[in-house]
Amino acid sequence: MATVAFIGLGNMGGPMAKNLMGAGHTVRVFDLSEQAVAASVADGGEKAGTVADAVAGADAVVTMLPAGKHVRSVYTGDDGILSAVPGSAILIDSSTIDVTSARDVQAAAAEKGVDMVDAPVSGGVGGAAAGTLTFMVGGADKAFERAKPFLDIMGKNIVHAGGPGNGQAAKICNNMILGISMIGVSEAFVLAEKLGLDHQSLFDIASTASGQCWSLTSYCPVPGPVETSPANRDYQAGFAAAMMLKDLKLAQNAAQDAGAATPLGAEAAALYGLFDAAGQGDVDFSGIINFIRGHK
Ligand code: NAD
Repeated sequence: MATVAFIGLGNMGGPMAKNLMGAGHTVRVFDLSEQAVAASVADGGEKAGTVADAVAGADAVVTMLPAGKHVRSVYTGDDGILSAVPGSAILIDSSTIDVTSARDVQAAAAEKGVDMVDAPVSGGVGGAAAGTLTFMVGGADKAFERAKPFLDIMGKNIVHAGGPGNGQAAKICNNMILGISMIGVSEAFVLAEKLGLDHQSLFDIASTASGQCWSLTSYCPVPGPVETSPANRDYQAGFAAAMMLKDLKLAQNAAQDAGAATPLGAEAAALYGLFDAAGQGDVDFSGIINFIRGHK
Protein backbone atom coordinates (compact mmCIF):
# COMPACT_ATOMS: atom_id res chain seq x y z
CA MET A 1 0.00 0.00 0.00
CA ALA A 2 1.15 3.54 -0.78
CA THR A 3 1.48 6.79 1.13
CA VAL A 4 -0.64 9.42 -0.61
CA ALA A 5 -0.63 13.15 0.17
CA PHE A 6 -4.06 14.73 -0.48
CA ILE A 7 -4.30 18.52 -0.64
CA GLY A 8 -7.67 20.28 -0.97
CA LEU A 9 -10.32 18.45 1.05
CA GLY A 10 -13.46 20.33 -0.01
CA ASN A 11 -16.75 19.01 -1.39
CA MET A 12 -14.91 16.85 -3.93
CA GLY A 13 -11.50 16.26 -2.34
CA GLY A 14 -12.90 15.09 1.02
CA PRO A 15 -14.80 12.07 -0.36
CA MET A 16 -12.06 11.30 -2.93
CA ALA A 17 -9.47 11.11 -0.12
CA LYS A 18 -11.83 8.90 1.86
CA ASN A 19 -12.01 6.41 -1.02
CA LEU A 20 -8.18 6.21 -1.12
CA MET A 21 -8.21 5.50 2.62
CA GLY A 22 -10.89 2.86 2.11
CA ALA A 23 -8.63 1.09 -0.40
CA GLY A 24 -5.98 0.74 2.32
CA HIS A 25 -3.60 3.57 1.42
CA THR A 26 -2.09 5.81 4.09
CA VAL A 27 -3.44 9.29 3.29
CA ARG A 28 -1.78 12.43 4.65
CA VAL A 29 -4.22 15.32 4.45
CA PHE A 30 -3.74 19.08 4.20
CA ASP A 31 -6.17 21.97 3.65
CA LEU A 32 -6.27 25.62 4.71
CA SER A 33 -9.64 24.88 6.35
CA GLU A 34 -9.29 23.31 9.79
CA GLN A 35 -12.84 21.99 9.47
CA ALA A 36 -12.04 20.16 6.23
CA VAL A 37 -8.91 18.63 7.78
CA ALA A 38 -10.85 17.52 10.87
CA ALA A 39 -13.46 15.79 8.68
CA SER A 40 -10.74 13.90 6.77
CA VAL A 41 -8.96 12.92 9.98
CA ALA A 42 -12.28 11.51 11.21
CA ASP A 43 -12.40 9.48 7.96
CA GLY A 44 -8.96 8.00 8.77
CA GLY A 45 -6.51 10.55 7.30
CA GLU A 46 -3.24 11.64 8.94
CA LYS A 47 -3.10 15.39 9.52
CA ALA A 48 -0.07 17.16 8.00
CA GLY A 49 0.96 20.61 9.29
CA THR A 50 2.12 21.96 5.92
CA VAL A 51 2.09 21.05 2.22
CA ALA A 52 5.79 20.13 2.50
CA ASP A 53 5.10 17.82 5.48
CA ALA A 54 2.27 16.15 3.59
CA VAL A 55 4.33 15.33 0.50
CA ALA A 56 7.71 14.45 2.10
CA GLY A 57 8.38 10.78 1.32
CA ALA A 58 4.98 10.33 -0.40
CA ASP A 59 4.47 7.85 -3.25
CA ALA A 60 1.65 9.90 -4.78
CA VAL A 61 0.15 13.37 -4.40
CA VAL A 62 -3.42 14.32 -5.31
CA THR A 63 -4.61 17.93 -5.36
CA MET A 64 -8.24 19.12 -5.64
CA LEU A 65 -8.17 22.92 -5.50
CA PRO A 66 -10.46 25.73 -6.68
CA ALA A 67 -8.53 27.38 -9.57
CA GLY A 68 -5.27 27.76 -11.48
CA LYS A 69 -3.75 30.31 -9.10
CA HIS A 70 -4.16 27.91 -6.15
CA VAL A 71 -2.64 25.05 -8.12
CA ARG A 72 0.33 27.19 -9.20
CA SER A 73 1.07 28.32 -5.64
CA VAL A 74 0.57 24.88 -4.02
CA TYR A 75 2.93 23.23 -6.57
CA THR A 76 5.52 25.88 -7.39
CA GLY A 77 5.38 28.33 -4.46
CA ASP A 78 8.03 28.46 -1.70
CA ASP A 79 7.56 25.33 0.43
CA GLY A 80 5.20 24.00 -2.26
CA ILE A 81 4.89 20.42 -3.46
CA LEU A 82 7.84 20.58 -5.88
CA SER A 83 10.15 21.85 -3.13
CA ALA A 84 9.63 18.77 -0.96
CA VAL A 85 8.25 15.82 -2.94
CA PRO A 86 10.54 12.88 -3.80
CA GLY A 87 11.43 12.55 -7.50
CA SER A 88 9.87 9.07 -7.46
CA ALA A 89 6.34 10.34 -6.66
CA ILE A 90 3.45 10.59 -9.13
CA LEU A 91 1.59 13.92 -8.99
CA ILE A 92 -2.12 14.11 -9.90
CA ASP A 93 -3.94 17.45 -10.13
CA SER A 94 -7.69 16.83 -10.36
CA SER A 95 -8.76 20.49 -10.01
CA THR A 96 -10.58 22.08 -12.96
CA ILE A 97 -8.20 24.85 -14.05
CA ASP A 98 -7.01 26.74 -17.14
CA VAL A 99 -5.00 24.79 -19.69
CA THR A 100 -2.03 27.19 -19.48
CA SER A 101 -1.61 26.76 -15.71
CA ALA A 102 -1.92 22.98 -16.08
CA ARG A 103 0.83 22.94 -18.74
CA ASP A 104 3.10 25.35 -16.82
CA VAL A 105 2.89 23.35 -13.59
CA GLN A 106 3.51 20.07 -15.44
CA ALA A 107 6.55 21.63 -17.12
CA ALA A 108 7.88 22.73 -13.71
CA ALA A 109 7.41 19.16 -12.42
CA ALA A 110 9.17 17.75 -15.51
CA GLU A 111 12.11 20.10 -14.89
CA LYS A 112 12.50 18.45 -11.48
CA GLY A 113 12.13 15.01 -13.05
CA VAL A 114 8.76 14.31 -11.35
CA ASP A 115 5.92 12.58 -13.25
CA MET A 116 2.63 14.48 -13.26
CA VAL A 117 -0.82 14.41 -14.87
CA ASP A 118 -3.75 16.82 -15.02
CA ALA A 119 -6.86 14.76 -14.29
CA PRO A 120 -10.00 16.91 -13.99
CA VAL A 121 -13.24 15.10 -13.30
CA SER A 122 -16.89 15.00 -14.15
CA GLY A 123 -19.48 13.33 -11.96
CA GLY A 124 -19.85 15.86 -9.16
CA VAL A 125 -20.02 15.33 -5.41
CA GLY A 126 -22.16 12.18 -5.81
CA GLY A 127 -19.58 10.63 -8.12
CA ALA A 128 -16.76 11.60 -5.76
CA ALA A 129 -18.50 9.88 -2.83
CA ALA A 130 -19.42 6.78 -4.86
CA GLY A 131 -15.98 6.48 -6.49
CA THR A 132 -17.58 6.68 -9.94
CA LEU A 133 -15.97 9.86 -11.30
CA THR A 134 -14.83 10.18 -14.90
CA PHE A 135 -11.20 11.35 -15.08
CA MET A 136 -9.95 13.11 -18.23
CA VAL A 137 -6.20 12.74 -18.06
CA GLY A 138 -3.39 14.72 -19.71
CA GLY A 139 0.26 13.72 -19.48
CA ALA A 140 2.93 11.37 -20.79
CA ASP A 141 2.05 7.67 -21.23
CA LYS A 142 4.27 6.66 -18.30
CA ALA A 143 2.71 9.25 -15.98
CA PHE A 144 -0.78 8.08 -17.02
CA GLU A 145 0.07 4.44 -16.28
CA ARG A 146 1.44 5.40 -12.85
CA ALA A 147 -1.58 7.56 -11.97
CA LYS A 148 -4.19 5.06 -13.16
CA PRO A 149 -4.21 2.69 -10.14
CA PHE A 150 -5.04 5.66 -7.88
CA LEU A 151 -7.62 7.08 -10.29
CA ASP A 152 -9.26 3.63 -10.57
CA ILE A 153 -10.05 3.82 -6.84
CA MET A 154 -11.73 7.24 -7.14
CA GLY A 155 -13.40 6.79 -10.52
CA LYS A 156 -15.06 4.50 -13.02
CA ASN A 157 -13.99 5.90 -16.41
CA ILE A 158 -10.34 6.88 -16.75
CA VAL A 159 -9.59 8.37 -20.17
CA HIS A 160 -6.14 9.36 -21.45
CA ALA A 161 -6.72 12.47 -23.56
CA GLY A 162 -3.09 13.02 -24.63
CA GLY A 163 -0.19 15.15 -23.41
CA PRO A 164 0.03 17.74 -20.62
CA GLY A 165 -3.07 19.94 -20.26
CA ASN A 166 -5.20 17.76 -22.54
CA GLY A 167 -7.33 16.56 -19.63
CA GLN A 168 -8.30 20.17 -18.96
CA ALA A 169 -8.79 20.77 -22.70
CA ALA A 170 -11.17 17.79 -22.92
CA LYS A 171 -13.15 18.92 -19.90
CA ILE A 172 -13.74 22.50 -21.10
CA CYS A 173 -14.51 21.47 -24.67
CA ASN A 174 -17.09 18.94 -23.42
CA ASN A 175 -18.68 21.42 -21.05
CA MET A 176 -18.79 24.10 -23.75
CA ILE A 177 -20.86 21.67 -25.87
CA LEU A 178 -23.05 20.99 -22.83
CA GLY A 179 -23.66 24.68 -22.01
CA ILE A 180 -24.48 25.56 -25.61
CA SER A 181 -26.74 22.52 -26.10
CA MET A 182 -28.64 23.15 -22.87
CA ILE A 183 -29.41 26.70 -24.00
CA GLY A 184 -30.45 25.42 -27.45
CA VAL A 185 -32.79 22.80 -26.00
CA SER A 186 -34.23 25.35 -23.56
CA GLU A 187 -34.92 27.85 -26.35
CA ALA A 188 -36.71 25.15 -28.34
CA PHE A 189 -39.03 24.27 -25.41
CA VAL A 190 -39.81 27.96 -24.79
CA LEU A 191 -40.60 28.47 -28.49
CA ALA A 192 -42.76 25.31 -28.46
CA GLU A 193 -44.75 26.70 -25.50
CA LYS A 194 -45.48 29.91 -27.46
CA LEU A 195 -46.54 27.85 -30.50
CA GLY A 196 -48.87 25.61 -28.50
CA LEU A 197 -46.73 22.46 -28.85
CA ASP A 198 -46.65 20.57 -25.55
CA HIS A 199 -43.43 19.48 -23.84
CA GLN A 200 -43.97 15.73 -24.18
CA SER A 201 -44.76 15.98 -27.90
CA LEU A 202 -41.62 18.00 -28.61
CA PHE A 203 -39.58 15.57 -26.50
CA ASP A 204 -41.01 12.48 -28.23
CA ILE A 205 -40.26 13.90 -31.67
CA ALA A 206 -36.90 15.65 -31.09
CA SER A 207 -35.44 12.83 -28.98
CA THR A 208 -35.76 10.46 -31.94
CA ALA A 209 -35.02 13.05 -34.62
CA SER A 210 -32.04 15.21 -35.55
CA GLY A 211 -32.43 17.49 -32.51
CA GLN A 212 -31.44 14.59 -30.25
CA CYS A 213 -28.67 15.36 -27.72
CA TRP A 214 -27.75 14.60 -24.09
CA SER A 215 -29.24 17.86 -22.77
CA LEU A 216 -32.58 16.75 -24.20
CA THR A 217 -32.64 13.00 -23.64
CA SER A 218 -30.76 12.62 -20.33
CA TYR A 219 -31.18 16.00 -18.66
CA CYS A 220 -34.34 17.48 -20.15
CA PRO A 221 -34.82 21.05 -18.81
CA VAL A 222 -38.62 20.78 -18.48
CA PRO A 223 -40.37 18.60 -15.88
CA GLY A 224 -41.92 15.36 -17.10
CA PRO A 225 -40.17 13.65 -19.98
CA VAL A 226 -36.99 12.50 -18.16
CA GLU A 227 -37.64 11.34 -14.61
CA THR A 228 -34.10 11.90 -13.30
CA SER A 229 -33.79 15.50 -14.59
CA PRO A 230 -33.30 18.25 -11.98
CA ALA A 231 -36.33 19.93 -13.65
CA ASN A 232 -38.45 17.43 -11.67
CA ARG A 233 -37.01 18.61 -8.35
CA ASP A 234 -37.26 22.37 -8.77
CA TYR A 235 -33.83 22.57 -10.47
CA GLN A 236 -31.81 21.62 -7.41
CA ALA A 237 -28.20 21.01 -8.53
CA GLY A 238 -27.01 18.57 -9.93
CA PHE A 239 -24.43 20.60 -11.69
CA ALA A 240 -24.68 24.16 -10.40
CA ALA A 241 -24.94 27.05 -12.86
CA ALA A 242 -21.93 28.71 -11.17
CA MET A 243 -19.81 25.64 -12.01
CA MET A 244 -21.00 25.73 -15.62
CA LEU A 245 -20.09 29.43 -15.74
CA LYS A 246 -16.59 28.67 -14.41
CA ASP A 247 -16.01 26.06 -17.14
CA LEU A 248 -17.44 28.30 -19.90
CA LYS A 249 -15.11 31.12 -18.81
CA LEU A 250 -12.14 28.72 -18.87
CA ALA A 251 -13.20 27.70 -22.39
CA GLN A 252 -13.38 31.35 -23.48
CA ASN A 253 -9.94 32.14 -22.05
CA ALA A 254 -8.50 29.08 -23.79
CA ALA A 255 -10.21 30.02 -27.07
CA GLN A 256 -8.72 33.52 -26.89
CA ASP A 257 -5.23 32.21 -26.14
CA ALA A 258 -5.46 29.62 -28.92
CA GLY A 259 -7.13 31.92 -31.48
CA ALA A 260 -10.21 29.68 -31.85
CA ALA A 261 -13.54 31.22 -32.94
CA THR A 262 -16.20 30.14 -30.42
CA PRO A 263 -19.04 32.67 -30.77
CA LEU A 264 -21.70 30.32 -29.35
CA GLY A 265 -19.40 29.46 -26.44
CA ALA A 266 -19.05 33.20 -25.79
CA GLU A 267 -22.82 33.65 -25.90
CA ALA A 268 -23.32 30.71 -23.51
CA ALA A 269 -20.77 32.22 -21.08
CA ALA A 270 -22.58 35.58 -21.25
CA LEU A 271 -26.00 34.00 -20.61
CA TYR A 272 -24.79 31.89 -17.68
CA GLY A 273 -23.05 35.05 -16.37
CA LEU A 274 -26.38 36.90 -16.36
CA PHE A 275 -28.10 33.91 -14.73
CA ASP A 276 -25.44 33.80 -12.01
CA ALA A 277 -25.63 37.57 -11.50
CA ALA A 278 -29.39 37.19 -10.99
CA GLY A 279 -28.59 35.13 -7.88
CA GLN A 280 -29.14 31.75 -9.55
CA GLY A 281 -25.59 30.37 -9.31
CA ASP A 282 -26.61 27.57 -6.94
CA VAL A 283 -29.47 26.44 -9.17
CA ASP A 284 -28.90 23.51 -11.55
CA PHE A 285 -27.57 24.70 -14.92
CA SER A 286 -30.70 23.37 -16.67
CA GLY A 287 -32.65 26.06 -14.74
CA ILE A 288 -31.41 28.49 -17.42
CA ILE A 289 -34.71 27.64 -19.19
CA ASN A 290 -36.61 29.74 -16.63
CA PHE A 291 -34.29 32.66 -17.31
CA ILE A 292 -34.78 32.28 -21.05
CA ARG A 293 -38.54 32.14 -20.50
CA GLY A 294 -38.27 35.42 -18.61
CA HIS A 295 -38.95 33.98 -15.15
CA LYS A 296 -36.59 33.26 -12.26
P1 NAD B 1 -14.29 23.37 -2.56
O1 NAD B 1 -14.22 24.85 -2.54
O2 NAD B 1 -15.35 22.64 -1.80
O3 NAD B 1 -12.86 22.78 -2.07
C1 NAD B 1 -11.62 23.36 -2.35
C2 NAD B 1 -10.74 23.16 -1.12
O4 NAD B 1 -9.42 23.64 -1.41
C3 NAD B 1 -11.24 23.94 0.10
O5 NAD B 1 -11.40 23.07 1.20
C4 NAD B 1 -10.13 24.97 0.35
O6 NAD B 1 -9.94 25.28 1.71
C5 NAD B 1 -8.93 24.25 -0.23
N1 NAD B 1 -7.81 25.14 -0.57
C6 NAD B 1 -7.85 26.30 -1.27
N2 NAD B 1 -6.60 26.81 -1.37
C7 NAD B 1 -5.78 25.95 -0.73
C8 NAD B 1 -4.38 25.92 -0.48
N3 NAD B 1 -3.58 26.91 -0.93
N4 NAD B 1 -3.87 24.90 0.22
C9 NAD B 1 -4.67 23.90 0.69
N5 NAD B 1 -6.01 23.86 0.50
C10 NAD B 1 -6.54 24.88 -0.21
O7 NAD B 1 -14.33 22.97 -4.12
P2 NAD B 1 -14.81 21.56 -4.75
O8 NAD B 1 -16.26 21.62 -5.06
O9 NAD B 1 -14.26 20.45 -3.93
O10 NAD B 1 -14.07 21.64 -6.17
C11 NAD B 1 -12.68 21.39 -6.29
C12 NAD B 1 -12.31 21.40 -7.77
O11 NAD B 1 -13.07 20.40 -8.43
C13 NAD B 1 -12.62 22.72 -8.48
O12 NAD B 1 -11.58 22.98 -9.39
C14 NAD B 1 -13.94 22.44 -9.18
O13 NAD B 1 -14.12 23.23 -10.34
C15 NAD B 1 -13.77 20.98 -9.53
N6 NAD B 1 -15.05 20.26 -9.71
C16 NAD B 1 -16.05 20.38 -8.80
C17 NAD B 1 -17.24 19.69 -8.99
C18 NAD B 1 -18.38 19.80 -7.99
O14 NAD B 1 -19.48 19.33 -8.30
N7 NAD B 1 -18.16 20.37 -6.81
C19 NAD B 1 -17.41 18.87 -10.11
C20 NAD B 1 -16.35 18.73 -11.01
C21 NAD B 1 -15.17 19.43 -10.80
